[in-house]
Amino acid sequence: MTAAIIDGKAFASGLRGHVAQAVSELNSSFDYQPTLAVVLVGDDPASHVYVRNKIKFTRETGMQSVEHRCDANIAQGDLEMLVGTLNADPNVDGILVQLPLPEGLDSDRVIAKINPDKDVDGLTEVSAGRLSLGKTGLRPCTPTGCVMLAKDALGNLSGKHCVVLGRSILVGKPAALLFLEQNCTVTIAHSRTQDLPEVCRSADILVAAVGRPDMVKGDWIKPGACVIDVGINRIAHPEKPGKMKLTGDVDYKGAMAVAGGVTPVPGGVGPMTIACLLRNTVIAACHRRGWDVPDCLSF
Ligand code: NDP
Repeated sequence: MTAAIIDGKAFASGLRGHVAQAVSELNSSFDYQPTLAVVLVGDDPASHVYVRNKIKFTRETGMQSVEHRCDANIAQGDLEMLVGTLNADPNVDGILVQLPLPEGLDSDRVIAKINPDKDVDGLTEVSAGRLSLGKTGLRPCTPTGCVMLAKDALGNLSGKHCVVLGRSILVGKPAALLFLEQNCTVTIAHSRTQDLPEVCRSADILVAAVGRPDMVKGDWIKPGACVIDVGINRIAHPEKPGKMKLTGDVDYKGAMAVAGGVTPVPGGVGPMTIACLLRNTVIAACHRRGWDVPDCLSF
């Protein structure tokens, strides 16, 4: 058996198309263009690449993007003040503070300052509370992308057993809640879970978010299951000395031999994160103004 490749890159491109359509609908109905403000602190090269991509895709969908670059030694209070200014700016719909922040800055305190109605990363306590209570709000991007890919692969998720491997605030916990919202029966597994392979083998949908290269083996997977690999791990390239390669948390070859569908790394969940961020920016713009969210953004 060979699993289907769940093509997150193609799905994300389609989703960005829907975001562009939604932006054009807001333009024609209200003469309005949503704006995403991105705050980048310091010189971390990976963060610069991420922010560049976020800005590029924001503009491609017809939205406005405002970038605020700050020195790595900016004072905590000044960074929080910048967030406050963006909160108060009526033209800013979404605020994204690129993480991680340089050493010495407390990201929890900065995130706590973001107005939850502009929290397009879905990271504030209020956003987490809204998700937990099933209230309208902005959902974290990567976990939302996982649900979208699973739904695209399987259709209705109701009654499926979803095992989420990992319980981080960023991925595991919100993913579990989002799959629960889809009426899955959810198990959250983590480093203290007993007989992890057996727990994973019971999953119709297996979401791996552990940050351990190729940890999930083929014989941990139920035949025909849908495998969503969130992991992004940089390892030494096995064939090219001195080079690095990206790999997920799932042994891809092993999984492809057993599963029904598998997300590749790269090209699976990764591209969904930015696409969901753009979608959240439009949703934030609509919620704040009391406009209906365009139908093309529902899933
Ligand atoms: P964290 O390190 O915050 O959390 C890892 C989780 O995995 C923890 O809950 C931990 O359990 C669990 N875990 C670690 N080792 C084991 C083990 N041996 N057995 C069982 N469980 C284990 O990572 P994140 O959630 O932030 O990220 C996970 C992966 O996803 C990373 O590779 C990251 O790069 C990637 N990622 C990808 C994104 C994308 O856009 N595609 C976005 C965000 C993250 P415990 O709580 O018990 O310690």
